[in-house]
Amino acid sequence: MTKTISLLGSTGSIGRQTLQVARELGLSVAALTANRQVDLLERQAREFHPALAVLYDRDAARQLRLRLSDTDIRVAEGPEGLLLAAQLPQADTVVTAVMGSVGLEPTLAAIRQKKRIALANKETLVCAGELVMAQAERWGADIVPVDSEHSAIFQSLQGCRDRNEVRRLLLTCSGGPFFGRSFRDLEGVTPADALKHPNWSMGAKITIDSATLMNKGLEVIEAMRLYRLPVEQVDVVIHRQSIVHSLVEYRDGAMIAQLGTPDMKLPIRYAFTWPHRAPSPDTPLDLLTCGDLTFRAPDLDAFPCLRIARQCAKAGGTACAIMNGANEAAVALFLQERVGFNDIPRLVESALSRVEVKYAPDLPDILEADRQARAAVLQTVGDMV
Ligand code: MG
Repeated sequence: MTKTISLLGSTGSIGRQTLQVARELGLSVAALTANRQVDLLERQAREFHPALAVLYDRDAARQLRLRLSDTDIRVAEGPEGLLLAAQLPQADTVVTAVMGSVGLEPTLAAIRQKKRIALANKETLVCAGELVMAQAERWGADIVPVDSEHSAIFQSLQGCRDRNEVRRLLLTCSGGPFFGRSFRDLEGVTPADALKHPNWSMGAKITIDSATLMNKGLEVIEAMRLYRLPVEQVDVVIHRQSIVHSLVEYRDGAMIAQLGTPDMKLPIRYAFTWPHRAPSPDTPLDLLTCGDLTFRAPDLDAFPCLRIARQCAKAGGTACAIMNGANEAAVALFLQERVGFNDIPRLVESALSRVEVKYAPDLPDILEADRQARAAVLQTVGDMV
């Protein structure tokens, strides 16, 4: 069980909910990191008294250092600050809730220190899953997923002695705000339309990914890496109510699922208490009032991102890193209203056709694929205007 955490990404949605759980379970906090939110990080630092507080942005870190000068909290900055936080000896668990590929190197550093990784940064496994899982095995570090679907699968696999007994994993997907619409219908969608998610409240990037279904595509790859299964054994089913969080189908036909209200605090709590369970103050799911549960096949014509992700998963090498980098760049442009909603899959496909895939990549190859993919998207958009 977790006693002390280093929390990478404490001011985002998962970070804030993690601190709620830390408060509830009485966990100590060794480090808090964020990008540039000085006010919130200062408040969090004053409440949890970490040994180290990190802001990635150097100007913001300078401000925070002044603000915390009456405390003995050390303030660090930049990527080296994140690495320090990931390796602090006091922490037995590192929560990786930073957004994007910036989480990769700190995660690898924490693995080498044999920490439990409460993994909330899916890009790490999407871009460098084979590398990360091989390192985790080598150093004996446990990776416990915080993503709700992967936590549901992790919970449904408890007691499974032989992975060959798993026939397939079924990831559930809410369908996002545009369920039922056709590709043509989606052409004029705005960021404001896309930011209305039916069941979960999340950050902007992941909310857009949920609207394009790229989030589910990333989660298919995340599941393949975590549970070492080929993409053919990971399926997606649309489940509008977000009550069944995902399922494991075993070879005898048994399906084991985890159900609950859509609340990230449960998977966060389980990542800390596993293999045990702690009492929760939250109201549990009421089966008598939660309504009917429905399941449908996803529409890959309306939501090509899911199809693209499956193709990249099959291709292997740096294909997933290229896809992820291109998607991050395309989503940022969509949020700035510089490209349309359907341009997101178009830009990802165009980056995949322009950047060469490398097989058996090392970390520098992966970071380079990510960089080239982002550059390809910006270049394509430059050519468009
Ligand atoms: Mg999820």
